[in-house]
Amino acid sequence: MIDVTLESVSKRFARAGDTAAVDDVDISIAAGEFFTLLGPSGCGKTTTLRMVAGFYFPTSGRIRFGAEDVTRRPPNKRDTGMVFQNYALFPHMSVAQNVAYGLKIRKVGRADSRRRVEEALGQVHLDGYGERRIDQLSGGQQQRVALARALVIRPRTLLLDEPLSNLDAKLREETRTEIRRIQKESGTTAIYVTHDQAEAMAMSDRIAVMESGRVQQIGAPQEIYHRPANAFVARFIGRSNVLSLPVVAVTDETVTVGRPDGTEIAVAAPAGHGLRPGESALVSVRPEHIGLTSATEAGALPGQVTELEFTGMATNLVVDVAGESVQVAAIDVPAGVAVGDRIGLRLNRERMWVVHP
Ligand code: ATP
Repeated sequence: MIDVTLESVSKRFARAGDTAAVDDVDISIAAGEFFTLLGPSGCGKTTTLRMVAGFYFPTSGRIRFGAEDVTRRPPNKRDTGMVFQNYALFPHMSVAQNVAYGLKIRKVGRADSRRRVEEALGQVHLDGYGERRIDQLSGGQQQRVALARALVIRPRTLLLDEPLSNLDAKLREETRTEIRRIQKESGTTAIYVTHDQAEAMAMSDRIAVMESGRVQQIGAPQEIYHRPANAFVARFIGRSNVLSLPVVAVTDETVTVGRPDGTEIAVAAPAGHGLRPGESALVSVRPEHIGLTSATEAGALPGQVTELEFTGMATNLVVDVAGESVQVAAIDVPAGVAVGDRIGLRLNRERMWVVHP
């Protein structure tokens, strides 16, 4: 178990011109933590992970494992276990041979190796599968072999790059729970890369949301969901309405904004929000934090339903409020509500939050 620190880490690729793939990233990951790099395609998460693994060296900045500076150390001298999207297993070898591979390279003796391979297969619930060929396994089982192969060397850090991408939806959910269990049992510090926000939230102790090579926010899943730092995070994590509303009054912790119906509402805001009356504030409110009522109810925001989609668990609506499209996810929709109807929205003030642009 070891903590991992990235200090002002940047990576520029020669061919990519002046733009940095990873731009001045600071991250401190605690020993034993499950930490996820989350963001859209091309945001720099894989490049960041590859620098921790040693496949790329940073253009500037430092990477430490505990007190050790590993910035320019080759991958095989870092004690990291790596799991890839495509598993990268050897198809002509048995499960046991695949798992034993890292031990062979490290010249671990035969008896010791056999014992550790069995232990690792037990960890991933594949006891008795040692003699199977890789092509006789399902995708989920192959991914667990890849995990066993990474864990068998007892790495100081476990690095996982979109390991569930090739699995179908149901298996993904099962396997993510498994990975989380195995990581907590082994106590290994894990860094996980994904573009899937639900996966990140379900698995992680903390998440770094990245965009254009920069870290946008680091926090626990609940923190990032309920207190997004900026409009990008609000929209990327789950879905969110980010409404631009005029600022009427401010305190250090709240911003009072005018609503489209002419009423005012005080919304919680991050410290140092810097907003002043007369400016516009961006207010994030999630679709599930808006209730439906009649258009004439006092305090409700009146609007018109422009889209309505039943998904089973919830009904997703788009409601036009004074020209602005507001997304609503309702568990209970009043009977008979249809596209074109006038409807009232009840915004849950407790769940509204001012975000930076
Ligand atoms: P994805 O989810 O699509 O893998 P990502 O968030 O992991 O995306 P990276 O693969 O880290 O993103 O890429 C970040 C940026 O760096 C992209 O603009 C990419 O084109 C560029 N890049 C990555 N690897 C190289 C390379 N070897 N040479 C040049 N540019 C690269």
